[in-house]
Amino acid sequence: MIDALQQLKSNLEAKPTRGRSYEIISYIVDACLQRDDVYEKLTFEAATLLHCCGTAAEREMDPQKWMPNISVLQKALNLTQTSEARRLRFGYSPGGGRGNVSLYWLELAPEEAENQSGRGVQSDEVTYRRSVPGSIKPSITARFFFKKGEIKNRSVVGTAFLTSIMLASLTWIAMLSLVILSLVLQDESINMGSLIHLLIAVIGFLFIWKQSLAPWFKVIDECVVKAPLGVAAIFEDSCEIEMFRHERSRWTRLVRFSADCPLCGSNIELRQGKPDHVLPLVGRCIESPHAHVYSFDRMTLRGKYIGP
Ligand SMILES: [Zn+2]
Repeated sequence: MIDALQQLKSNLEAKPTRGRSYEIISYIVDACLQRDDVYEKLTFEAATLLHCCGTAAEREMDPQKWMPNISVLQKALNLTQTSEARRLRFGYSPGGGRGNVSLYWLELAPEEAENQSGRGVQSDEVTYRRSVPGSIKPSITARFFFKKGEIKNRSVVGTAFLTSIMLASLTWIAMLSLVILSLVLQDESINMGSLIHLLIAVIGFLFIWKQSLAPWFKVIDECVVKAPLGVAAIFEDSCEIEMFRHERSRWTRLVRFSADCPLCGSNIELRQGKPDHVLPLVGRCIESPHAHVYSFDRMTLRGKYIGP
């Protein structure tokens, strides 16, 4: 068992992989190697694993929902192991009922099962998780509007916010028109230099428009879009804005949808579907963003393998 754990630890160090399942495996391996009695069985609750491996934003989630499915954990474990040492597998006892929590542990896989490990039925479905409201920190400027991570569109703050977005958009368009007009109206004939200036100005304006302003218009139709630049705090990972109806009013919320990749056990996050897919948003695995691609359904929080 110790040999297998040590081999697994060196495999993890040799092939660093990002993702929730790998962080959980790494934490369990370290804890198992550090215990005094090597024959003692160490079991872990979902809440402990969330506390030790989750990010600050994730710690507010329900631990059971945060935990990857046991088949995803096993998949990540299989991909980390080589045939040199005895293979390990995940043990799992599902909880249920009052005070009966789910437990996870690592154990040696029986010899006869070793050859079949990793060849189980491959699922091509993923289930997304939605972050808890308020767990994603807005940037300093957006913090004033996003109280607890959300805005009621028709409230005073919401109206002020949406008006400022409208004003910023109008100013942006007016400035671009002015730049073009000033170049067209200048007395000297248009030369190569002024054309290059114009091109740089247009590209700059379009970039800012696409990254910061356009998503606010797109979210009205599409319900979920990638969060525009400057909305989430700098240290936050990629996240989304979601517009939804609740109690007869519209709300805008800072949110993060994530899932576990059934192919490799790493994390899936929402990204643009372009250029290889027609859907505006798809779930892409952070370790293999163009090979492990999944659809995203906001209502059922489910997705299917669609790529490459
Ligand atoms: Zn993957």
